[in-house]
Amino acid sequence: MMQGNMSQQLGNSHRRFLQTLMTCGSVDEPGARSLHQHCCETHNTQYVPDQLDNFINAINSKLQPLFMQIRKGMSEESGQQHYALVNMAETEVTRMSSDYTENELELFRKTIDLIVASDNGLALSTDILNSADTLTTKKLKKTETEQLLKRLVQDKWLCEKQGEYTLSTRCIIEMEPYIRTMYPEQVKVCHICHNIVFQCQTCENPVCGVKIHFPCVAKYFRGRSVRRCPACDDAWEHEVPEMKRRSRSQSRR
Ligand SMILES: [Zn+2]
Ligand SMILES: [Zn+2]
Repeated sequence: MMQGNMSQQLGNSHRRFLQTLMTCGSVDEPGARSLHQHCCETHNTQYVPDQLDNFINAINSKLQPLFMQIRKGMSEESGQQHYALVNMAETEVTRMSSDYTENELELFRKTIDLIVASDNGLALSTDILNSADTLTTKKLKKTETEQLLKRLVQDKWLCEKQGEYTLSTRCIIEMEPYIRTMYPEQVKVCHICHNIVFQCQTCENPVCGVKIHFPCVAKYFRGRSVRRCPACDDAWEHEVPEMKRRSRSQSRR
């Protein structure tokens, strides 16, 4: 995929950055900054700190004819920015088809169904295991499903905490075009950052019901003594999460 003219036009430092990103799936912002420095130093290219966005824009201009793009997205847990490579041409989960069989991808789609349909961006492992019985391609046994879920977590498509599965930051960045196409009615957008939202708090006023990411809630209400919904001005009934600068979830990507 990265052969031919395109790779010749990219500098070695750019190419190394892109290849590392493809291998890792996604990198968080501090990781991307040190990778930028590392790639420039390895290939004796001038390294300018704080020029990460320009460096990535240069790569993106070469990726454009391939309908690919490095995109940024926020971790719904930590609020940290992450980078991932997105294929803008594929609206299906086809990109994963080299690593997963047809029925495994069907189960992954069903997991996305459950997460999108939920109020809190979670799918319970019991619900995922039940949906393995309804696969039309080829049914998966319980142990096979459990193995598959482990692989999806290892490959950074899903995150798991005590039997609850969420979409990883990488998955949200890469699958956003797919999710918007497949679930145009259900997809919700965060009232604060306007990005697609799964794990969040919801305004309890039924005629409002805006959703806000946990890190966006923390940021918005920081320093505000009176907590009111930024959309309808009703009281914000939820406990405001505390966001630490260095959260556990960052190392658990
Ligand atoms: Zn947000
Ligand atoms: Zn409201």
